[in-house]
Amino acid sequence: MRKKKILFLLLGLAVIYSFWLGVQLVRFRTYTNPALDKTPLEIQGSYHIHTTHSDGKKTPEKIAELASRSSLDFIILTDHGDPNLESMAAAGWNKGILVLTGSELSVSRGHLVALGFAPPSMPFSQNAEQAAYQIKSLKGFSIIAHPYSKVAWSWGEPIGYNGIEIINANTLLKYDFLRSIPFLPSILVKPDYALLKMLKRPVKNLKKWDELNRTHPTLGFYSVDAHLLYKPLLSFLQLHVLLKNPLSKEFEQASHQVLSALHQGRFYNAVDYAAQSHGFRFWAQKGQKSVQMGEKSIFDSHVTLHVRAEFPFTCEVHLIHNGKKIMASREKRIVHKPTHPGFYRVEVYLKERTPMRKDIPWILSNPIFFREKS
Ligand SMILES: [Zn+2]
Ligand SMILES: [Zn+2]
Repeated sequence: MRKKKILFLLLGLAVIYSFWLGVQLVRFRTYTNPALDKTPLEIQGSYHIHTTHSDGKKTPEKIAELASRSSLDFIILTDHGDPNLESMAAAGWNKGILVLTGSELSVSRGHLVALGFAPPSMPFSQNAEQAAYQIKSLKGFSIIAHPYSKVAWSWGEPIGYNGIEIINANTLLKYDFLRSIPFLPSILVKPDYALLKMLKRPVKNLKKWDELNRTHPTLGFYSVDAHLLYKPLLSFLQLHVLLKNPLSKEFEQASHQVLSALHQGRFYNAVDYAAQSHGFRFWAQKGQKSVQMGEKSIFDSHVTLHVRAEFPFTCEVHLIHNGKKIMASREKRIVHKPTHPGFYRVEVYLKERTPMRKDIPWILSNPIFFREKS
């Protein structure tokens, strides 16, 4: 009798739970911008992907095929290696997707992603500083991967690393899934919902990024670090690259266009599963001259900062100066007159019903750097 009662109780709880989760899933939607006129000068893609050339579960061909079925323009493969030349040979146009390749190096301080470098004549050094120097001398750039998890980064003197990963989706899947257990069954039916639930504010990464930027300009990246679950991961977090000319059809040129924009910081990051972010802009104006994200410029009293966040849903723009929030606004077009040199960046928060926590930067811009006139 008692056993029966417990069984009924459990069954009842399971029904209530399934109903509750079902309601959450039915109510979930990605906010879109139907009136948006997409510009060919903004392309979007997925960064930090592993394939069967290292510890990933799918081939570059299969991954390109999955990317071509989503709204992506490019993917960046970063297999483990020093560099991984087999994986890098997959670069090219595949199923209409621009496939760019780099490598994730295991160096003395942790994992370092190298992109945009000319083929090296010998393997990269395992010493972090030397590897960064070699990548730079081959015209490439380097990004510190997942600095606080798995192989955590040991910092030392800040030298010429170009970027740091602010969110790494693999870290969320591996180390934060316990928090998501109540939502875990939804990964089978609506993985986008489950992934959004897993996101947590990258407090330490943001703090470190701002700290690094005080001494030398560093770019921020949202990274999928995909080894499996490619279909949902590829479009979960995206880099939105701003081009000077429409993307070339010729591979070498197209590759250069995207990699040099990333190297220069002319891109922003977004959680596109929560809401489509295409069209966001952040720039500075010095008279007739505009200064883009990633650029370094001399500060003067005529500088104005501009944000365009014209979305058909509510969001809040935070302007951040040297790591401190100096303004929050729900206006769709913002002009702000800064009073001090330093670095300025933008975080945008979605103010709508979403499975994503309210403290996750839905959009994360790269900084604009102003130094004092000497
Ligand atoms: Zn790694
Ligand atoms: Zn990785």
